[in-house]
Amino acid sequence: MARLPEAEIERLKRDVSLEELVRRRGVELTRTGANLVGLCPFHDDKNTPNLVVTPERNVWHCFVCQVGGSVIDWVMKTEGASFRYAVELLRGGASLAGVPGRTAAVPKRTRHRRMQPIAARDAEEAELLARVVDHYHAAMKESPEALGYLEQRGLGHPEVVEHFELGFANRTLGYRLPARSAKVGEELRTRLEQLGVYRTTGHEAMNGCLVVPLRDETGRVVQLYGRRIDAHLKTGTPKHLYLAGGHRGVFNREGLEHAEEAILCEAVLDALTFWCAGFRHVTTAYGVED
Ligand code: ZN
Repeated sequence: MARLPEAEIERLKRDVSLEELVRRRGVELTRTGANLVGLCPFHDDKNTPNLVVTPERNVWHCFVCQVGGSVIDWVMKTEGASFRYAVELLRGGASLAGVPGRTAAVPKRTRHRRMQPIAARDAEEAELLARVVDHYHAAMKESPEALGYLEQRGLGHPEVVEHFELGFANRTLGYRLPARSAKVGEELRTRLEQLGVYRTTGHEAMNGCLVVPLRDETGRVVQLYGRRIDAHLKTGTPKHLYLAGGHRGVFNREGLEHAEEAILCEAVLDALTFWCAGFRHVTTAYGVED
């Protein structure tokens, strides 16, 4: 049997729409930031969607099954096919719909427009942080788990997310950065590392956190507070995080402006709780060390 040409395999991985294949399999996908999530068809996935599809990279992963990969891996798994047969199916397009009798054409992947980089390489620090906040804020609004966390903490006020531009860090910021191999990508990453948005390991520092922007007197973002939302953290994992450079900025400055007195909370989430309960003259001392 002739060897499958590597270029042909790469073409399939690149050009066949994984998203469409997954949907045809009957999996309902919902967008969370740059990812799509759905119930995994390979295990009894009843409550939390564990299947993640990343259209930008055309890959999938199930957190419970610990399997994933390209369109080829998807077809191998769904059709019980060998690698070679999966490639043949993807080339031919027959019987891929997951619906008997239906011979659907292999779904072509529409090339994603290149995402705009998050900021120019020479953007000022506050500008760069503001764009990070924008991204986290957009992710928050599309993340049921983060919105659910607010609800569960009694922070389900309809305006709180918009008012404080609350965000959620879910590992998708990297999609907004040009590749590390590009000069501008490398420069932006280095700057975000210096700010503490990224660790030197290349991971997002606040991954899994509710993110609260803290602003200076002119309203510019000068610091971020991150609170991990996962209740089952490994021991030693810090629950509260800040960026490099110390505690700066005042939480809820505009709420204090015309107030004669202020409620000072130790923790940011306590201050948010007061705010949601209608006490608008509230701020925080950012906790004691914990
Ligand atoms: Zn699974």
